Amino acid sequence: MSRIHVMSDNLSNKIAAGEVVERIASVVKELVENSIDAEAKNIIVNLKESGTKLIEVIDDGIGMDSEDALLSFQRHATSKITKEDDLFFINTLGFRGEALASIASVSKVDMRTSQGMEGTHIYIEGGKLITNETSDARKGTTISVADLFYNTPARLKYLKTLQTELANVTMYIEKLALAHEEISFTLTNNGNSIVYTSGSNDLLKVIHEIYGYSVSSNMIKIEASNDDYDISGYICKPTILKSTKTHMNVMVNGRVVSNNNVNKAINEGYFRFKPDPKYPVVVLKIETDPTLIDVNIHPSKNDIKFSKIEDLEQLISTTINKALTNTLLVQNVEERIQVKPIVNTPVYEETKPIVDELSDVKGDQLELISTIEEKDDYKEVQVKVEESSVSHDNKNEEIRNLVLTPLAIIKKTYIVAEGEDGMYLIDQHAAHERINYERVTKEFEERKINRTSMLIPLTIELSTSDFIKIKEHFDALDSFGFLVEEFGLNTIVIKEHPTWLRAGYEEETINKVIELIIDEKNFSDMKFNNKVIATIACKASVRANEEISLEQASAILKDLVLCDNPYNCAHGRPTIIHYSNYELEKMFKRVMN
Ligand code: ZN
Ligand code: ZN
Repeated sequence: MSRIHVMSDNLSNKIAAGEVVERIASVVKELVENSIDAEAKNIIVNLKESGTKLIEVIDDGIGMDSEDALLSFQRHATSKITKEDDLFFINTLGFRGEALASIASVSKVDMRTSQGMEGTHIYIEGGKLITNETSDARKGTTISVADLFYNTPARLKYLKTLQTELANVTMYIEKLALAHEEISFTLTNNGNSIVYTSGSNDLLKVIHEIYGYSVSSNMIKIEASNDDYDISGYICKPTILKSTKTHMNVMVNGRVVSNNNVNKAINEGYFRFKPDPKYPVVVLKIETDPTLIDVNIHPSKNDIKFSKIEDLEQLISTTINKALTNTLLVQNVEERIQVKPIVNTPVYEETKPIVDELSDVKGDQLELISTIEEKDDYKEVQVKVEESSVSHDNKNEEIRNLVLTPLAIIKKTYIVAEGEDGMYLIDQHAAHERINYERVTKEFEERKINRTSMLIPLTIELSTSDFIKIKEHFDALDSFGFLVEEFGLNTIVIKEHPTWLRAGYEEETINKVIELIIDEKNFSDMKFNNKVIATIACKASVRANEEISLEQASAILKDLVLCDNPYNCAHGRPTIIHYSNYELEKMFKRVMN
């Protein structure tokens, strides 16, 4: 029985027309998705000259009979859509059969396919059938596309450089491999192996095969669901952030997608665990009833439209945030040793120093520029966070009981401390900021902000528009403990401020808060409150490059371990790095493994 049906014109017209053959990657995509649809367990993609000379895809799928083989090159032939209703219930990868026909019209296509008995060999040049014969009987399909655009040189010009085309193919195959841990993928170019995954059916192993040990050893497993969506996968600890969104891999029902709402939700999940312009490595699999998604909105088929998107976003960001909170985030030096055997490897791999805090006294000023995104009004959702190791409570208990003795302070910034299990390095500003941040948050939430009058009320002159904006928000300032009044033309006067402003820094802090209000667009948002609190906490804290005594350091360490999240500052930077006794011994080769 033939598996491929010819679509009626009516139906095919309903499908958004798009450029199927556009990039080398889009050709690879069509061929490889056909292999996946054919239930292949091993898919090999061989390229020559990044695919511009040759794209060959070899699979061990179910293959086609001679009739289907020929039909597959006809426009509108498809095995995936048989009746109109199916368009709304599409659950297979590809859903437009005309792709192969388009590809064959601008290249030289050679296909050998077999269902295990007699095989078929077809050769088509520029859309013209040259050969159609019986052939060898290896089960599966081998298809090669040579000299793409040889008969349409104008389109050839649209291809990017060989490196760019290859990079796009590589990225696509990597994402597909992550979507299908049960399939082994091989990608080569000019005989050089580029991607290999073993098809082990183990997602973490695929992550290891693609990203290597430094990433796979820093992943946290997640799993959760609500009424409509199941999500699962892995998220990285904030120690291996990247500069681009490329490695936020999202799959919906096995399809690789790119969706802004989902990306945003992932980012929100990392709130307070990472600086804003950095992106995590994530493999997120979303499973849902196909009726809840619309895959036809984008011609390139990468985007997708979800029903009940708000619920999905919330499920994703809550699950990620909980998983991060529950996982011990003390920087572990062992992971760094594996990557580079130099002790002074930067904490954030592959990232530039974070401008906002790595610098000196000015650092604290700059830090405040970094924006904080948060969704504070999480509704309750059912979340199950799976973790390989100890539970959150145990870990928090562990750190709460940690006794740290400061021994020295390096560069007037990093406290060197000893604990029962080795050495700890603590960033004095980040740690103090975390302590103040939690304290101010608590007082703000409990509306127990203590105020004090200013000895000399501070007057600030503003531009007319800024003045109007500030005047609208006197009440918000009041909720943070600032008593502000109008004082003549475009001028305000601050009479009271919260007690936790650091002596000598009152004016600076107030100016910064005023600035935040002027720059804020969504004023009523909870995110804004957080921003103000982080600002106040930062300003109230010991700075980098500020000399403190070991007694002061000791007080900071005692308060730090009692924090709800002692591991990050208010902006997501790490506060503490741990070198365990074992790691120290390993570094000095007192132990060998
Ligand atoms: Zn700070
Ligand atoms: Zn900070």
